[in-house]
Amino acid sequence: MTRNRASLALLPTLSWKRSLAKDLLAWYRRHARDLPWRRTRDPYAIWVSEIMLQQTQVATVIPYFARFMARFPTVEALASAAENDVLRYWEGLGYYRRARQLHRAAAVIVDEHGGQFPRELTAVSTLPGVGRYTAGAITSIAFDVRTPILEANTVRLLSRLAAFAGDPASGAGRQFLWQLAEAILPPKNCRSFNQALMELGSLVCTPRNPKCETCPVAGQCASLIGGRQHEIPRLRPKTPSEAVREAAVVVWRKDRVLLRRRTPGERWAGLWDFMRFELSARRGTALVDELLEKVRAQSGLAIEPPEPITTLKHGVTRFRITLQCYAARSLGRGKLSAGEWKWVDPAELEDFPLSVTGRKLGRLIAASEPPA
Ligand code: SF4
Repeated sequence: MTRNRASLALLPTLSWKRSLAKDLLAWYRRHARDLPWRRTRDPYAIWVSEIMLQQTQVATVIPYFARFMARFPTVEALASAAENDVLRYWEGLGYYRRARQLHRAAAVIVDEHGGQFPRELTAVSTLPGVGRYTAGAITSIAFDVRTPILEANTVRLLSRLAAFAGDPASGAGRQFLWQLAEAILPPKNCRSFNQALMELGSLVCTPRNPKCETCPVAGQCASLIGGRQHEIPRLRPKTPSEAVREAAVVVWRKDRVLLRRRTPGERWAGLWDFMRFELSARRGTALVDELLEKVRAQSGLAIEPPEPITTLKHGVTRFRITLQCYAARSLGRGKLSAGEWKWVDPAELEDFPLSVTGRKLGRLIAASEPPA
């Protein structure tokens, strides 16, 4: 029997589904967190929250959501904003592609849907940055359409409920879990049902040490009944992290510093940055030569030997980055390479979207003197 056939055998009966919906919804009525995006049915606000919540914790999203909605309260306001402005309000949330796609999708809604958020799953799915999960979440939560959802919390919860021992990230695993997510939808109130699934996954059926003793659907959980709740879902081994050294060089000309807009395909595309590159030399003349050469290669400019400012540590995906930061004066020779460049007064840096480390460095230089 193939895995797929075996998985299909796990699809639930009608009485199981009824009990699940009844117990889950009763629990959700009493335990749902009061989150800002749950106080509205505005599909625009729900869409913004769903995009922000991708790969980001609820607690982190709350203040960003409030600021973003205050600055861009409607889809028209977002569509007519400059990308720089949108990225500035996204700054620090990471995964900036989400913000650029949100901005592009707002323009599509205004141009092709007259500013009305589309209700049909197919139309929502074609918006930039909206995948199957996000489309299902928006249509079910905003319009109460009977559409399934599957994200990290529900993958875990559904795998455990069905005692699905396969790999949930495999093609067959995803297919089974999507089928299950669809099969368990009640005939009505999918708005609350889908949110309740995510809430239970987030608060009770947690990745480690699920709180089975207080779980409202323990009676429907095949993993708990079989004593396998700690083994399911099967996890893939984590990719080990990798240590990387990088340099950021603040190039000064008189009392201004040089910024470069990062290009599509680069990390943090659309954000502004100082010169930044990987570093191999560790010290001495080899290090100075590498800094001079890489600044010239990136910007086209010749600079004086850079002075160290500080060292910052941060992580990007699986990379643990040690960022050595320097300042240097331009020698006034050379012509800027192709791309978007600006010489900026450090006090104006607050107007530009920067990465987290770019912002730390920017605030440091705004509070200090240029190199002699
Ligand atoms: S009983 Fe435990 S494993 Fe099963 S759904 Fe509830 S919390 Fe998750």
